[in-house]
Amino acid sequence: MAFDNERIEDYKDIWVFCEQREGKLMSTDIELISEGRKLADERGAKLVGLLLGGNGIADAAQELGGYGADKVYVIEDEKLDVYTTDAYTKAICDMINDKKPEVFLVGASTIGRDLAPRVAARLHTGLCADCTHLDINMDLYTDFLREASTMDIDNMTFDMEDTNLKMTRPAFGGHMMATIICPRFRPCMATVRPGVLKKAEFDEKKAASVVVEKLQVTFAAGDIRTKVLEVVKEARKMVDLIGAEVIVSVGNGISKDPEKGIKLAEELAEALGGGVVGASRAVTDAGWLTADHQVGQTGKTVRPRIYVALGISGAIQHKAGMEDSEIIIAVNTSDDAPIFEVADYGLVGDLYEVVPAMIADLQANIA
Ligand SMILES: Cc1cc2nc3c(=O)[nH]c(=O)nc-3n(C[C@H](O)[C@H](O)[C@H](O)COP(=O)(O)OP(=O)(O)OC[C@H]3O[C@@H](n4cnc5c(N)ncnc54)[C@H](O)[C@@H]3O)c2cc1C
Repeated sequence: MAFDNERIEDYKDIWVFCEQREGKLMSTDIELISEGRKLADERGAKLVGLLLGGNGIADAAQELGGYGADKVYVIEDEKLDVYTTDAYTKAICDMINDKKPEVFLVGASTIGRDLAPRVAARLHTGLCADCTHLDINMDLYTDFLREASTMDIDNMTFDMEDTNLKMTRPAFGGHMMATIICPRFRPCMATVRPGVLKKAEFDEKKAASVVVEKLQVTFAAGDIRTKVLEVVKEARKMVDLIGAEVIVSVGNGISKDPEKGIKLAEELAEALGGGVVGASRAVTDAGWLTADHQVGQTGKTVRPRIYVALGISGAIQHKAGMEDSEIIIAVNTSDDAPIFEVADYGLVGDLYEVVPAMIADLQANIA
């Protein structure tokens, strides 16, 4: 099969795949559109949202405009109503081959992690999965390295004219950060972890002025090899860690009595104002809480207003998911636990004694 995506000068604009469920945008779409705006400005390019689904999804386009999209391509087709890898891959590859974007960003959601590699393979381009930071402009990239790495940036030589997308992600179990570029093929593709990128402010004026263009896709027999017979929604309510203002997380320190430890965390989360309970991987691996509670490199990345770590040692993989929280409070029996390195407030003590005292104090102050 012949590919013409080596003529990289033909490729323009920054595209974002905007995932929707029943017409409702995902929080990751807003994060990616906000970041995409920054990248488009750095590159002097347009920011385009790509919205695929069944009839009626076009209403969400304005919202994307309000967060920075210049244009939204909408494909409404009953074959795109429920996600299938085949249908979405076909529609997106057709659009990319036709319009040639330089960068294509996808949220690292369950759907994004399935879709992006399939699209990249079909287009014969590179994909960097699970990114936590993106740059185009070299000045901004070297500023980022100066701040976030131990490299001696000022004594290194960089090609300051480089306009490739620099895709940074944790590597080697989170012990290193790697920046990856895709210099020979287009589009440069990245999936980005939900919750990592900051959302822009919504702007009514921009929402009103976004250009919405409806496109069509033609499916041939054999393009879609799967058929969704039924969508069964999980009855269990998943915890919304990414949207939470207050998170109280428990670690292996609750091993003496996990049930009581979790109950204390729930009570403290409530006393702090409707918070939710998170967990370290030790807790989810032990089955004391389900995987949707896990914070960290292989769990969720969170940045709540208040993050409380109860009996969590502060391994690098855990810190990677919570260290950008506004206020971090840690309770640990060991005064040299690494979690104290990122904590704003540290309490050395047994969580089974400290937490009831914290709850009582909060309740007394509210009463
Ligand atoms: C590739 C990879 C990915 C990973 N991804 C993640 C991830 O996403 N999230 C994550 O969390 N981990 C992750 N891990 C695991 C991580 O390395 C740690 O093993 C894990 O975070 C440890 O969990 P913990 O701090 O709860 O347990 P421990 O390390 O066992 O720490 C328990 C802490 O509780 C304290 N303690 C004990 N009793 C009490 C008490 N009564 N009161 C107060 N404190 C007490 C102890 O002093 C200790 O500091 C990953 C590891 C790898 C290799």
